[in-house]
Amino acid sequence: MDSKSIRRTFLEFFESKKHKIVPSAPIVVQNDPTLMFTNAGMNQFKDYFLGNKVAENKRVADTQKCLRVSGKHNDLEEVGIDTYHHTMFEMLGNWSFGDYFKEEAIEWAWELLTGQFKLPKDRFYATIFEGDSTENLDQDSEAKKFWMKHLPEDRVLNGNKKDNFWEMGDTGPCGPCSELHIDLRPQSEVDKVPGKDLVNQDHPQVVEIWNLVFIQYNRLSNGILENLPEKHVDTGMGFERLAMAIQGKQSNYDTDVFQPLIQWVAKKGGVEYGNDEKTDIAIRVISDHIRAIAFTIADGQLPSNNKAGYVIRRILRRAVRYGYTFLRFKEPFLHEMLDILVDQFDGVFPELTGQKDFIAKVIKEEELSFLRTLDNGLKKLDTITSGSSKTIAGSTAFELYDTYGFPLDLTALIARENNMEVDEAGFKKEMEVQKNRSKSAGKQTTGDWTVVNEGDDVTFLGYTDTQSTTKVLRYREVKQKDKTQFQIVLEATPFYAESGGQVGDTGYLQFTDEKIEVVDTKKENDLIVHFTKKLPASLDGEVKAVVNESKRRLTENNHSATHLLHAALREVLGDHVQQKGSLVNDKILRFDFSHFSKMTAEEIEEVEQIVNQKIRENIALDEKQNVPIEKAQEMGAMALFGEKYGDFVRVITFDPRYSVELCGGTHVPRTGNIGLFKIVSEGSSAAGVRRIEAVTSVEAEKFYKQKLNLITELEEMLKNPKDLKKSVENLVKENLANQKKLDQLNNQQAGQIKNQLKNDAKEVNGKKLITYKGEFPSVDSMKQVAFDLKREVDNLVLLIGANINDKPMLTVMLADDLVKNGMNANEIIRKMASAIKGGGGGQPFYATAGGKDLSGLDEALKIGTDLIEAS
Ligand code: ATP
Ligand code: MG
Repeated sequence: MDSKSIRRTFLEFFESKKHKIVPSAPIVVQNDPTLMFTNAGMNQFKDYFLGNKVAENKRVADTQKCLRVSGKHNDLEEVGIDTYHHTMFEMLGNWSFGDYFKEEAIEWAWELLTGQFKLPKDRFYATIFEGDSTENLDQDSEAKKFWMKHLPEDRVLNGNKKDNFWEMGDTGPCGPCSELHIDLRPQSEVDKVPGKDLVNQDHPQVVEIWNLVFIQYNRLSNGILENLPEKHVDTGMGFERLAMAIQGKQSNYDTDVFQPLIQWVAKKGGVEYGNDEKTDIAIRVISDHIRAIAFTIADGQLPSNNKAGYVIRRILRRAVRYGYTFLRFKEPFLHEMLDILVDQFDGVFPELTGQKDFIAKVIKEEELSFLRTLDNGLKKLDTITSGSSKTIAGSTAFELYDTYGFPLDLTALIARENNMEVDEAGFKKEMEVQKNRSKSAGKQTTGDWTVVNEGDDVTFLGYTDTQSTTKVLRYREVKQKDKTQFQIVLEATPFYAESGGQVGDTGYLQFTDEKIEVVDTKKENDLIVHFTKKLPASLDGEVKAVVNESKRRLTENNHSATHLLHAALREVLGDHVQQKGSLVNDKILRFDFSHFSKMTAEEIEEVEQIVNQKIRENIALDEKQNVPIEKAQEMGAMALFGEKYGDFVRVITFDPRYSVELCGGTHVPRTGNIGLFKIVSEGSSAAGVRRIEAVTSVEAEKFYKQKLNLITELEEMLKNPKDLKKSVENLVKENLANQKKLDQLNNQQAGQIKNQLKNDAKEVNGKKLITYKGEFPSVDSMKQVAFDLKREVDNLVLLIGANINDKPMLTVMLADDLVKNGMNANEIIRKMASAIKGGGGGQPFYATAGGKDLSGLDEALKIGTDLIEAS
């Protein structure tokens, strides 16, 4: 069975068990401070488990894109070395939100694997949680009972907390789990060593394929387990491992999920896969990593220097380095693999198909920039690894990181290949030093929620209201360095929580006799969290929530203008324009979009014109909530890749033929409110991504006003000419002509001074001494006089004490013959310079000095003359 059929069969099976099939959530997590990437199918349902939200469907199944390269689940080091851990993989899952529990979950898992997929029953082992006394948890005898309907007792194994108690992260929903392991070894080997002894022993052919988690608890930040109000099922099966089992392979990479990639890399490298362990690993790493890279970029995370962006950059660089070292890929290659990926996932994950060119472009740019320094970095590492030391110093690892862009794990990897270690503590120290230089925010600690009033669903009123009378549901404290903040959740709030680029509202909460300022509003999953600097004495009773309305209105102007801008860009530049990021506040709007070249002045002007035209048309907002997603797409709304949409969405339309967008933000009732739109900058924000900054209404008015004021000031300066442009042009012309005249005059003057000085030369000890005190129009003209005299007067000693624009300046010029005989202009000028309180120098034949004391020029010349006369 090919992998596409396997995926389909899984979903259809659970559909037949009354599960609703839902799309994968984006691989890049938004609105969850505890998680950077989706690492399990259950992440997107966290709110259901915690009881923050009621599930629309109690039974759900899907295939979820997961990434395990950071945080609690990090498999990066195994990837490619072993044959069954990936960075990015698909997790097939079925869920029950307070519906069925252990019995059905176990029954259906068994039915699917052995009935539908016909996997051999005598190759399975199930593990169950053995219990844990420190946490007061019992053995999961229930699960054992259900497995024993199908498996003999010696195939149902006890497992410890590490393997059989599943937790998403340090906090959050969790519970005992029961895993299915399958033994894929040839019979001859099974006869020798029973599979039972190899379960959970990291054997590449005795692997876990499915984990059934029975979610019952919530892990609090103090480590304590709290019972959840309801019991849930959360299962996750590795799609690639399942394919390996069904297709009778010994490695995930031998399945049709990976073979096209593997073969492409092998062919490009001119090697055969399966011949040499080192190149095999490289081929596997590359085939694995390109998937992680492509999917994260598709979901909106571009490679960058921090956080999620840096994780992706690290993975990409790792792949490039493997190709470079083991397959001699000296040119960008990863981006060429996109065709294969698009082919494989067509009809499954449309985000790749829809953005192929963009993703390829981003990857290629990253490859190019890393390849530029890779060679030098590797050479540097080479000299280190060929030495006798067994450790790479922290400072070296840091230099590689800082100068050559080597992520620490890449340096560590190369070290390991050379049987060396990296002083990671030393590296971290250096990193710390650098961070402190740029002042890091420091780690924050988040307390648990304290419930004030029971209640789950939070209502957002902000589409219509800016005030509400409500009550506090819960609050908690967040500490960061010496700053403490509080987070408050209300039952019904008009405060818009930062999302979709629009900033969170500010305002205040009026308690019975205390007014608390709200400094920001953010989302945490589906909670709306109000940030305050203090808490009122009592949180009981009613509270009035009031949004800062003027700020909100200005923000709305910018948000609606962003929609108009987006549509105008697509009209002017083409349909390839897609939103890649946006920021909307009360001052400015910033819009990032995919486009490959700088916009021309004409394009910018055209976009501005269209947007302002739409503003003048005063189009009424058409806001539709709860539109089925398919319907919204029929209406012409474009779903943004990387955004999580439910079955029902909100559609914002300004003229159905012009702008239709899926959006949760707040908007103007009519476009006329925006008043005026002006682009203030257009530039590049990343490879293949342009950034526009623009202002509207009050800020746009300010922008034009400043420009107009400038013109008025200029007119006044020029005594209000009839034609400003003409008179500025004239000014520039006149200025040029004057400059020319001045230069001529200066030259003439310098010529006169020179001629006069030539006649003043005095014979002193066989030298021709010329001293001069007087004004010079410029340093250049003084220099010219000195060099001319040198050419024209033999045995010259020239001492000048000049006044140049009221600053004292000295020059000493000596004939070459005198220099040959040991005289030095530097020495002379240094002595002279003290008289004008200055200093200087130059070459043995020519030196100059500036100073502060104009009255010392005579004295300086005297010092010089005395020196010459004494010599
Ligand atoms: P393992 O012990 O093999 O790392 P796990 O205990 O980390 O697995 P779970 O967190 O229970 O796995 O995830 C559920 C399923 O997802 C696993 O049974 C496995 O089939 C699959 N899986 C987990 N991690 C990976 C990975 N890095 N690559 C591919 N599949 C994975
Ligand atoms: Mg694991």
